[in-house]
Amino acid sequence: MSNVETSLEIRVDAGKCLAYGNCVSVAPDMFDLPAKAKTVIVLKRAVAEDELEELEEAVRSCPVRALSIGPAETGK
Ligand code: SF4
Repeated sequence: MSNVETSLEIRVDAGKCLAYGNCVSVAPDMFDLPAKAKTVIVLKRAVAEDELEELEEAVRSCPVRALSIGPAETGK
């Protein structure tokens, strides 16, 4: 499958994220957690079709449900 982008994006609720790092373990190319960070960093906001399954697993892995996938905001 090609790297076609969907109209979805990754969202992190910074108020909920407790930096457990589960999502980084599941999808290290999408999330990063630098040593002293209190909130995970999303490396790629736009979701490609072939990344959706991995991302859904990362969302399920979060113990505090801080991650979600939603429609991309175009900024218009
Ligand atoms: S698994 Fe959840 S709480 Fe842990 S770093 Fe990822 S978003 Fe934050």
